[in-house]
Amino acid sequence: PAIIEIESLSKQYNSGTTALSDVSMNIAEGEILALLGPNGAGKTTLISIICGLVVPTGGSVRVGGHDIGRDWRAARRLIGLVPQEIALEPFETVLNTVRFTRGLYGEAPDDAYLEQILRSLSLWDKRDAATRELSGGMKRRVLIAKALSHRPKVLFLDEPTAGVDVALRREMWQVVEGLRRDGVTIILTTHYLEEAEAMADRIGVIDKGRLLLVRPTAELMGEFGKKE
Ligand code: ADP
Ligand code: ADP
Repeated sequence: PAIIEIESLSKQYNSGTTALSDVSMNIAEGEILALLGPNGAGKTTLISIICGLVVPTGGSVRVGGHDIGRDWRAARRLIGLVPQEIALEPFETVLNTVRFTRGLYGEAPDDAYLEQILRSLSLWDKRDAATRELSGGMKRRVLIAKALSHRPKVLFLDEPTAGVDVALRREMWQVVEGLRRDGVTIILTTHYLEEAEAMADRIGVIDKGRLLLVRPTAELMGEFGKKE
């Protein structure tokens, strides 16, 4: 069943820029979808609308059956967003950071669950470290732990490997692979075809605000020719 239903979505910013035009698609529970497109294509706008951070000028989005326009609170609980920028409280510990975020969602404390996500992100040994002491890759994993703290059904990763080196990029691919095994639905944005291919079950290509196509990764890569 579709966890996200997007219908005829469009967005025109006040500046006059049309960031999205008539985008429709469904995203199935448990799938990993990559939104692939160049800078300025409309990827961030699309996920910002789904997450309720930007109001569309046309169309509708349902998350778990909840219309984000009418029933934003219920939809929001099902969503975790990992933003592009790393913003962490430098002197706070990893565990407290994630606990605090869970609290913001009004969820009761559940350290057993938080231990489970910190372990799955290889952060449990660092739970008492201040976030400023962490490497860049660990900080990115803390952002993911924060986004998972209220047990969302869908995780959004906005350019998860923007500005990181090759080793970190591979580490992030492995993290996503681990989340896939946990059954989390993931939507990520990227402008690297290689990255979309490495992580996603399906790839949606966006350019100039239009969704040009959405296809299973294997099918799309077949069309681009066999990779050695
Ligand atoms: P991306 O890395 O997704 O291409 P940019 O670096 O272009 O994003 O922009 C960063 C943020 O600045 C965007 O998420 C968007 O909210 C905002 N932004 C981008 N373009 C404009 C613009 N023309 N006017 C105002 N804000 C913008
Ligand atoms: P992407 O994430 O694919 O780089 P964005 O969704 O950030 O694309 O941007 C799509 C278009 O909308 C770009 O032309 C960008 O400059 C513009 N844009 C993005 N955010 C804003 C904003 N807050 N105000 C005005 N224009 C914006």
